Amino acid sequence: MELSRRDLFKATGGMGAGIALTALGFDAREVEAATKDFKLKNAREYTSICTFCSCGCGMMCYVKDGKLVNLEGDPDHIINEGALCSKGASMGAVPNSDQRVTTPLYRAPGSDKWQRIGWKEAIDKVAGKIKRTRDGNWLASEKDGGKEFTVNRTDAISFLGGAQNTNEECYLLSKMSRILGTDYVEHQARL
Ligand code: SF4
Repeated sequence: MELSRRDLFKATGGMGAGIALTALGFDAREVEAATKDFKLKNAREYTSICTFCSCGCGMMCYVKDGKLVNLEGDPDHIINEGALCSKGASMGAVPNSDQRVTTPLYRAPGSDKWQRIGWKEAIDKVAGKIKRTRDGNWLASEKDGGKEFTVNRTDAISFLGGAQNTNEECYLLSKMSRILGTDYVEHQARL
């Protein structure tokens, strides 16, 4: 079939592209599959977890030149088996947004301005606050029924996890909470 570029644009513009291509003698499914392959060519594939709610659905993410170019449900994931709700399916807007915060921000006491700081400075600040809070609120022992018991804990620190935390991260968070001496470990899904 002789088909000029203009003819093709006219045909696909007037109808749904798949229907139009079928009408022109193409197999729309093959065209769709080829288009997808082209989009994902040279993209790196990663698995990830949706950050929107506590279901923790698995995702397949395709990244090219530092940008997320495609995202879909992970068919091998035990929770969603390839499905994503509308929120999850639209998550691609988050990592690609130019409003995304990519460096730590710090607002000094009394200031009304946020300033960008480096990761090392941010980690040092957080570590210093944790240390001061722990040392200032340490409970070595507690009385119960007239007897003194060693407890070695602090009630001033708690941990809050989320659905996007992996098993490995949860394991490390639990270990860290025990090392710091807090019993308070919570999860977003229980709030
Ligand atoms: S895809 Fe939907 S249901 Fe699944 S974790 Fe994301 S927001 Fe929750």
